[in-house]
Amino acid sequence: MFRLSPVVAALLAGLLVATAAPAAPAAAPLPVTEVAPGVFVHAGAVAQTSPGNRGDIANIGFVVGESAVAVIDSGGSVAVAESALAAIRQVTDLPVRYLINTHMHPDHVFGNQVFAGIGATIIGHRRLPAALSARADFYRQSMREQLGAELAGAVTITLPDETVEREQRIDLGGRTLLLRAWETAHTDNDLTVLDEATGTLFAGDLLFMQHVPVLDGSIKGWLAQLPELAALDAERVVPGHGPPSAPWPQALEAQTAYLEALAADLRAAIAAGVPIAEAVDGAAAGQAGNWRLFEAYNPRNATAAFAELEWE
Ligand SMILES: [Zn+2]
Repeated sequence: MFRLSPVVAALLAGLLVATAAPAAPAAAPLPVTEVAPGVFVHAGAVAQTSPGNRGDIANIGFVVGESAVAVIDSGGSVAVAESALAAIRQVTDLPVRYLINTHMHPDHVFGNQVFAGIGATIIGHRRLPAALSARADFYRQSMREQLGAELAGAVTITLPDETVEREQRIDLGGRTLLLRAWETAHTDNDLTVLDEATGTLFAGDLLFMQHVPVLDGSIKGWLAQLPELAALDAERVVPGHGPPSAPWPQALEAQTAYLEALAADLRAAIAAGVPIAEAVDGAAAGQAGNWRLFEAYNPRNATAAFAELEWE
Protein backbone atom coordinates (compact mmCIF):
# COMPACT_ATOMS: atom_id res chain seq x y z
CA MET A 1 0.00 0.00 0.00
CA PHE A 2 1.27 3.43 -0.92
CA ARG A 3 1.82 5.68 2.06
CA LEU A 4 2.85 9.29 2.06
CA SER A 5 5.47 10.36 4.54
CA PRO A 6 3.89 12.56 7.24
CA VAL A 7 5.78 15.56 5.92
CA VAL A 8 4.58 15.11 2.35
CA ALA A 9 1.05 14.42 3.59
CA ALA A 10 1.09 17.61 5.63
CA LEU A 11 2.39 19.60 2.66
CA LEU A 12 -0.29 18.16 0.39
CA ALA A 13 -2.97 18.84 2.97
CA GLY A 14 -1.79 22.42 3.17
CA LEU A 15 -1.86 22.71 -0.59
CA LEU A 16 -5.38 21.30 -0.72
CA VAL A 17 -6.56 23.77 1.90
CA ALA A 18 -4.81 26.61 0.09
CA THR A 19 -6.33 25.73 -3.27
CA ALA A 20 -9.75 24.89 -1.83
CA ALA A 21 -10.11 28.15 0.11
CA PRO A 22 -10.95 30.50 -2.78
CA ALA A 23 -13.60 28.04 -4.01
CA ALA A 24 -15.38 27.99 -0.65
CA PRO A 25 -18.92 29.27 -1.19
CA ALA A 26 -19.48 32.86 -0.10
CA ALA A 27 -22.09 33.35 2.60
CA ALA A 28 -25.57 33.66 1.13
CA PRO A 29 -26.88 37.18 1.80
CA LEU A 30 -29.72 37.48 4.29
CA PRO A 31 -32.93 38.85 2.79
CA VAL A 32 -33.40 42.46 3.85
CA THR A 33 -36.17 45.06 3.58
CA GLU A 34 -35.46 48.78 3.10
CA VAL A 35 -37.83 50.14 5.76
CA ALA A 36 -36.83 53.78 5.14
CA PRO A 37 -34.29 55.40 2.77
CA GLY A 38 -30.90 53.87 3.59
CA VAL A 39 -32.28 51.79 6.47
CA PHE A 40 -32.30 48.04 5.95
CA VAL A 41 -33.64 45.29 8.19
CA HIS A 42 -33.43 41.54 8.17
CA ALA A 43 -36.28 40.00 10.15
CA GLY A 44 -35.13 36.94 12.06
CA ALA A 45 -37.40 33.95 12.54
CA VAL A 46 -39.89 34.17 15.41
CA ALA A 47 -38.53 30.98 16.92
CA GLN A 48 -36.08 29.62 19.44
CA THR A 49 -32.47 29.12 18.37
CA SER A 50 -31.82 25.81 16.62
CA PRO A 51 -29.12 24.36 14.36
CA GLY A 52 -31.64 24.66 11.49
CA ASN A 53 -32.07 28.44 11.85
CA ARG A 54 -28.39 29.02 12.86
CA GLY A 55 -29.55 31.43 15.55
CA ASP A 56 -31.15 33.71 12.95
CA ILE A 57 -33.98 34.64 15.31
CA ALA A 58 -33.42 38.35 16.02
CA ASN A 59 -33.76 41.34 13.74
CA ILE A 60 -30.57 42.79 12.29
CA GLY A 61 -30.41 46.28 10.81
CA PHE A 62 -27.98 48.48 8.98
CA VAL A 63 -27.98 52.18 8.18
CA VAL A 64 -26.04 53.57 5.24
CA GLY A 65 -24.64 57.08 5.46
CA GLU A 66 -22.60 59.03 2.91
CA SER A 67 -19.29 57.77 4.26
CA ALA A 68 -19.96 54.74 6.45
CA VAL A 69 -22.35 52.02 7.53
CA ALA A 70 -23.57 51.16 11.03
CA VAL A 71 -24.92 47.70 11.80
CA ILE A 72 -27.41 47.16 14.61
CA ASP A 73 -26.90 43.71 16.18
CA SER A 74 -24.83 40.93 14.71
CA GLY A 75 -27.08 37.87 14.80
CA GLY A 76 -26.94 34.61 16.69
CA SER A 77 -23.91 32.98 15.08
CA VAL A 78 -20.84 33.67 12.97
CA ALA A 79 -22.68 32.19 9.98
CA VAL A 80 -25.59 34.60 10.36
CA ALA A 81 -23.23 37.57 10.71
CA GLU A 82 -21.39 36.55 7.54
CA SER A 83 -24.72 36.40 5.73
CA ALA A 84 -25.63 39.81 7.15
CA LEU A 85 -22.34 41.21 5.87
CA ALA A 86 -23.05 39.69 2.45
CA ALA A 87 -26.41 41.50 2.45
CA ILE A 88 -24.68 44.79 3.29
CA ARG A 89 -22.20 44.26 0.46
CA GLN A 90 -25.08 43.87 -2.00
CA VAL A 91 -26.19 47.38 -1.05
CA THR A 92 -22.94 49.29 -0.53
CA ASP A 93 -19.15 49.07 -0.53
CA LEU A 94 -18.80 51.75 2.16
CA PRO A 95 -16.88 50.72 5.28
CA VAL A 96 -18.83 49.19 8.16
CA ARG A 97 -17.51 51.59 10.78
CA TYR A 98 -19.78 50.66 13.68
CA LEU A 99 -21.54 47.64 15.08
CA ILE A 100 -24.04 48.59 17.77
CA ASN A 101 -25.17 45.90 20.21
CA THR A 102 -28.65 46.54 21.61
CA HIS A 103 -27.98 44.19 24.58
CA MET A 104 -26.15 41.08 25.69
CA HIS A 105 -28.35 38.21 24.47
CA PRO A 106 -26.59 35.69 22.22
CA ASP A 107 -29.05 36.04 19.34
CA HIS A 108 -27.96 39.71 19.11
CA VAL A 109 -24.20 39.49 19.72
CA PHE A 110 -22.88 36.07 18.68
CA GLY A 111 -21.82 37.41 15.27
CA ASN A 112 -19.78 40.30 16.74
CA GLN A 113 -16.41 38.87 15.73
CA VAL A 114 -17.27 39.09 12.02
CA PHE A 115 -17.66 42.86 12.24
CA ALA A 116 -14.67 43.26 14.55
CA GLY A 117 -12.71 41.36 11.90
CA ILE A 118 -13.46 44.00 9.25
CA GLY A 119 -12.51 46.86 11.56
CA ALA A 120 -15.88 47.94 12.91
CA THR A 121 -15.94 49.63 16.31
CA ILE A 122 -18.39 47.77 18.54
CA ILE A 123 -20.54 49.99 20.76
CA GLY A 124 -22.85 48.96 23.60
CA HIS A 125 -24.45 50.03 26.87
CA ARG A 126 -22.08 50.96 29.70
CA ARG A 127 -23.11 47.78 31.51
CA LEU A 128 -22.80 45.46 28.49
CA PRO A 129 -19.15 44.43 28.98
CA ALA A 130 -19.69 43.32 32.58
CA ALA A 131 -23.03 41.67 31.87
CA LEU A 132 -21.82 39.72 28.84
CA SER A 133 -18.59 38.71 30.59
CA ALA A 134 -20.55 37.40 33.57
CA ARG A 135 -22.76 35.31 31.27
CA ALA A 136 -20.03 34.18 28.86
CA ASP A 137 -19.53 30.66 30.22
CA PHE A 138 -23.26 30.09 30.55
CA TYR A 139 -23.91 31.33 27.00
CA ARG A 140 -21.15 29.16 25.56
CA GLN A 141 -22.74 26.13 27.18
CA SER A 142 -26.37 26.93 26.44
CA MET A 143 -25.62 27.90 22.83
CA ARG A 144 -23.71 24.64 22.36
CA GLU A 145 -26.96 22.90 23.27
CA GLN A 146 -29.17 25.11 21.12
CA LEU A 147 -26.97 25.76 18.06
CA GLY A 148 -24.92 22.59 18.07
CA ALA A 149 -21.21 22.26 18.78
CA GLU A 150 -20.02 23.38 15.34
CA LEU A 151 -21.87 26.70 15.08
CA ALA A 152 -21.45 27.48 18.79
CA GLY A 153 -17.78 26.49 18.77
CA ALA A 154 -17.02 29.05 16.05
CA VAL A 155 -18.11 31.92 18.32
CA THR A 156 -15.59 33.99 20.22
CA ILE A 157 -17.61 36.14 22.61
CA THR A 158 -16.56 39.64 21.58
CA LEU A 159 -17.11 42.61 23.87
CA PRO A 160 -17.75 46.21 22.81
CA ASP A 161 -14.82 48.57 22.17
CA GLU A 162 -16.78 51.59 23.38
CA THR A 163 -19.73 52.07 25.70
CA VAL A 164 -22.52 54.60 26.04
CA GLU A 165 -23.04 56.20 29.44
CA ARG A 166 -26.38 57.84 28.67
CA GLU A 167 -26.54 59.23 25.13
CA GLN A 168 -24.15 59.40 22.24
CA ARG A 169 -24.37 60.42 18.60
CA ILE A 170 -22.42 58.77 15.83
CA ASP A 171 -21.93 60.28 12.42
CA LEU A 172 -22.20 58.18 9.26
CA GLY A 173 -21.73 61.17 6.92
CA GLY A 174 -24.88 63.15 6.22
CA ARG A 175 -26.83 61.32 8.91
CA THR A 176 -26.44 60.73 12.61
CA LEU A 177 -27.58 57.97 14.90
CA LEU A 178 -28.61 58.76 18.47
CA LEU A 179 -27.70 55.96 20.86
CA ARG A 180 -29.40 55.85 24.22
CA ALA A 181 -28.62 53.65 27.22
CA TRP A 182 -31.68 52.71 29.31
CA GLU A 183 -32.11 51.73 32.93
CA THR A 184 -32.84 48.06 33.65
CA ALA A 185 -35.83 46.75 31.67
CA HIS A 186 -35.56 43.76 29.27
CA THR A 187 -31.99 43.41 30.59
CA ASP A 188 -29.71 45.73 32.56
CA ASN A 189 -27.94 46.77 29.34
CA ASP A 190 -30.60 47.85 26.82
CA LEU A 191 -29.57 50.37 24.20
CA THR A 192 -31.74 51.97 21.50
CA VAL A 193 -30.65 53.54 18.22
CA LEU A 194 -32.54 56.34 16.51
CA ASP A 195 -31.80 57.21 12.90
CA GLU A 196 -32.63 60.89 13.07
CA ALA A 197 -32.75 61.35 9.29
CA THR A 198 -35.72 59.02 8.83
CA GLY A 199 -37.19 58.76 12.34
CA THR A 200 -36.44 55.04 12.50
CA LEU A 201 -36.00 53.68 16.02
CA PHE A 202 -34.16 50.41 16.59
CA ALA A 203 -35.63 49.34 19.92
CA GLY A 204 -33.72 46.11 20.38
CA ASP A 205 -35.57 43.87 22.81
CA LEU A 206 -37.15 46.81 24.58
CA LEU A 207 -39.84 45.95 22.02
CA PHE A 208 -41.07 42.48 21.17
CA MET A 209 -43.77 41.93 18.54
CA GLN A 210 -45.32 38.53 17.74
CA HIS A 211 -42.66 36.82 19.91
CA VAL A 212 -43.79 36.96 23.55
CA PRO A 213 -41.69 39.51 25.49
CA VAL A 214 -38.84 37.98 27.49
CA LEU A 215 -37.98 39.36 30.91
CA ASP A 216 -34.33 39.20 31.96
CA GLY A 217 -34.10 42.50 33.81
CA SER A 218 -36.89 44.23 35.70
CA ILE A 219 -40.62 44.23 34.99
CA LYS A 220 -41.02 47.37 37.10
CA GLY A 221 -38.16 49.05 35.28
CA TRP A 222 -39.52 48.06 31.87
CA LEU A 223 -43.04 49.31 32.65
CA ALA A 224 -41.72 52.50 34.24
CA GLN A 225 -39.70 53.44 31.16
CA LEU A 226 -42.38 52.70 28.55
CA PRO A 227 -43.79 56.27 28.57
CA GLU A 228 -40.32 57.71 27.99
CA LEU A 229 -39.68 55.18 25.25
CA ALA A 230 -43.04 55.96 23.63
CA ALA A 231 -42.19 59.67 23.67
CA LEU A 232 -39.14 59.21 21.42
CA ASP A 233 -39.56 61.19 18.24
CA ALA A 234 -39.80 58.37 15.71
CA GLU A 235 -42.13 57.42 12.87
CA ARG A 236 -41.41 53.73 12.85
CA VAL A 237 -39.73 51.14 15.00
CA VAL A 238 -37.65 48.08 14.29
CA PRO A 239 -38.44 45.63 17.10
CA GLY A 240 -35.85 43.17 18.37
CA HIS A 241 -38.13 40.34 17.32
CA GLY A 242 -41.06 40.47 14.91
CA PRO A 243 -41.66 42.34 11.64
CA PRO A 244 -38.93 44.49 10.01
CA SER A 245 -40.74 47.65 11.10
CA ALA A 246 -44.00 48.95 12.52
CA PRO A 247 -45.62 52.35 13.20
CA TRP A 248 -44.45 54.15 16.31
CA PRO A 249 -45.54 54.31 19.09
CA GLN A 250 -48.61 52.12 18.36
CA ALA A 251 -46.23 49.16 18.02
CA LEU A 252 -45.79 49.24 21.83
CA GLU A 253 -49.43 48.55 22.66
CA ALA A 254 -49.49 44.75 22.68
CA GLN A 255 -46.30 44.46 24.70
CA THR A 256 -47.51 47.04 27.23
CA ALA A 257 -50.74 45.05 27.67
CA TYR A 258 -48.75 41.85 28.24
CA LEU A 259 -46.38 43.36 30.81
CA GLU A 260 -49.24 45.10 32.63
CA ALA A 261 -51.29 41.88 32.74
CA LEU A 262 -48.31 39.91 34.02
CA ALA A 263 -47.62 42.43 36.78
CA ALA A 264 -51.32 42.82 37.73
CA ASP A 265 -51.96 39.05 37.91
CA LEU A 266 -48.85 38.46 40.00
CA ARG A 267 -49.58 41.36 42.36
CA ALA A 268 -53.09 40.00 42.91
CA ALA A 269 -51.73 36.51 43.58
CA ILE A 270 -49.08 37.82 45.97
CA ALA A 271 -51.68 39.89 47.83
CA ALA A 272 -53.90 36.78 48.14
CA GLY A 273 -51.03 34.65 49.44
CA VAL A 274 -51.07 32.33 46.40
CA PRO A 275 -47.91 30.17 46.31
CA ILE A 276 -45.43 30.92 43.53
CA ALA A 277 -46.01 27.75 41.49
CA GLU A 278 -49.74 28.41 41.28
CA ALA A 279 -49.27 32.14 40.69
CA VAL A 280 -46.87 31.47 37.82
CA ASP A 281 -49.38 29.10 36.20
CA GLY A 282 -52.12 31.67 36.06
CA ALA A 283 -50.06 34.79 35.38
CA ALA A 284 -50.94 36.60 32.14
CA ALA A 285 -52.95 33.54 31.06
CA GLY A 286 -55.40 35.83 29.26
CA GLN A 287 -52.53 36.92 26.98
CA ALA A 288 -51.65 33.42 25.73
CA GLY A 289 -53.53 33.74 22.44
CA ASN A 290 -51.76 36.99 21.52
CA TRP A 291 -48.21 35.68 21.35
CA ARG A 292 -45.97 33.05 19.83
CA LEU A 293 -43.61 31.04 22.09
CA PHE A 294 -45.87 31.88 25.04
CA GLU A 295 -45.41 28.49 26.71
CA ALA A 296 -41.64 28.67 26.29
CA TYR A 297 -41.18 32.02 28.00
CA ASN A 298 -44.23 33.07 30.00
CA PRO A 299 -43.54 30.74 32.97
CA ARG A 300 -39.96 32.06 33.19
CA ASN A 301 -41.15 35.66 32.95
CA ALA A 302 -43.72 35.03 35.65
CA THR A 303 -41.18 33.38 37.94
CA ALA A 304 -38.74 36.29 37.56
CA ALA A 305 -41.47 38.90 37.97
CA PHE A 306 -42.91 37.13 41.04
CA ALA A 307 -39.52 37.28 42.74
CA GLU A 308 -39.26 40.99 41.96
CA LEU A 309 -42.82 41.97 42.91
CA GLU A 310 -42.94 39.88 46.07
CA TRP A 311 -40.72 42.40 47.85
CA GLU A 312 -42.32 45.68 46.84
ZN1 LIG B 1 -33.02 39.86 24.35
